[in-house]
Parts: sequence; C-alpha cells; structure tokens
Amino acid sequence: MHTVCEEAKCPNIADCWQRSTATIMIMGDICTRSCGFCAVKTGKPIALDPFEPQHVAEALKSLSLKHVVITSVDRDDLPDGGAEHFAQTISLVKKQCPQTMVEVLIPDFKGQSDSLEKIFNAKPDVLNHNLETVASLQKQVRPQASYQTSLSVLARAAQAGLVAKSGIMLGLGEQEEEIQQALQDLKEKARVSILTIGQYLRPTPQHLEIKKYYHPDEFEHWREYALGLGFEHVASGPMVRSSYHKALKTPKNNGD
Ligand code: SF4
Repeated sequence: MHTVCEEAKCPNIADCWQRSTATIMIMGDICTRSCGFCAVKTGKPIALDPFEPQHVAEALKSLSLKHVVITSVDRDDLPDGGAEHFAQTISLVKKQCPQTMVEVLIPDFKGQSDSLEKIFNAKPDVLNHNLETVASLQKQVRPQASYQTSLSVLARAAQAGLVAKSGIMLGLGEQEEEIQQALQDLKEKARVSILTIGQYLRPTPQHLEIKKYYHPDEFEHWREYALGLGFEHVASGPMVRSSYHKALKTPKNNGD
C-alpha cells in the first residue's frame, strides 16, 4: 500500500501517524501529469490491480484509523480516469471501517460528470480537491489542470451534498489580491467549507523555485481572512498540507 505521507515526503508524517490518521495513495505511484511542485513520479502508469479496493479496505480495517485520506495519482490513461476503481475503494472502506472518517483527495477526472458522479455516489465524508494556487500561476504550477475545472469539480461536490474541501500553497509568486480572489472563488463559486493554506516547499532542485517564505503571522492573517469569508474550518500554517485534518471536528471523531 502506498502512503502519500512517504511518497510526497510530507513533513507532518510523525504528527499524523501518531494521531491515527494517514493518507493512502491508490492506482499506483506513477502519475500521468507533471505538476511543478509534486514529488510523485510522472510517466506511464502500471495496470490497475482489480483487487486493490478490497486489499485497501482490509488493510485499513486492521489499522482501525480515526481518519483516512484516500488519494490517487492522475490516471488520464484510463477512460474514466480510474473513477470506478476509486469509488469501489471508498464504498468498501466505508463498509469495512464504519468508525473511520473517509476523506478523499481526488484528481479532477478532467471534469467528466460520469466519473465525478461515481465518486460522489460513494458518499465520502469529505470531498477534497486542491486548487493548489492562484489563477495566473495554474499553467506553470499544474499544466494539465485548470482553475475553472477545479472550481467546477468542487461546486458539483457541494451541490451533491458533500462536505467540500480544498487547499492552496503559498510561496510560488502569487500576489496578495490574487490570494484574496482565489479564496473568494473557493467560498462563493465552489461553496467549499474546509480550507488548507500551507507553504510551498521544493521537493528537489528540478521542481519550481520557492519565491517567498511566508511568516506564521501571514498565515494567521490568511486564516482570519478566510474565516471572515465564511469558511467553516481553516488550517493555515507553514507545515499545513491538504490532507492535514487537524481543523476538522465531526460526529465520527469529535475533533481528536
Ligand atoms: S496530478 Fe497530483 S500526483 Fe500527479 S503530479 Fe500533479 S499533484 Fe502530483
């Protein structure tokens, strides 16, 4: 089983694992896209393992986590982007781990309605999809994705009655008014409830340059700004990552 915690060299691994939460990556560890900030390998993915959904559910049952984030690489090589496989995994995990909060951090499935509906109908507790950065930097930061497609994925999740979550990184060269616009769009256009804001950290010299390190006070400013826009939960800080769920209180985990 691949964990993003290890694959993406996440700085929060010790804290999360101690809290009985982890992020699982399904559909292999090779992505069909090449985002400029991401440490995951890009290339020709391997064939899907039809038994993976069952194996993941069994493994998580043995771990009895409080909170699991299921994510995946982008599988643009598959007709439905892997949506059916992803949906099966959600359903089996929810069935076999009723006490575990199931959050999914999904690709955009190229905005395809059929694929997104498969995911929405599996009823994850939280639907997470990252906007990652401001509109003007999308092409540079995530060339195969788009600002409008991501907003539309989130808006459709909220419309389907799911708790929508998203995240952005700071430090890639964004301007203050651009951050404001991105947060307003996430709240007003996409009806996102949960937001994460973190510092971009460069995985290797081959990845995008860090243009600025934000001070913790600046993260606190953006946390208050976002709460002022009406987001229910905001985690904002240098080490905050999108599957970092410390801000989230739900009936299933009472916020611990
Ligand atoms: S789509 Fe996701 S896994 Fe693939 S390169 Fe981009 S951020 Fe990384």
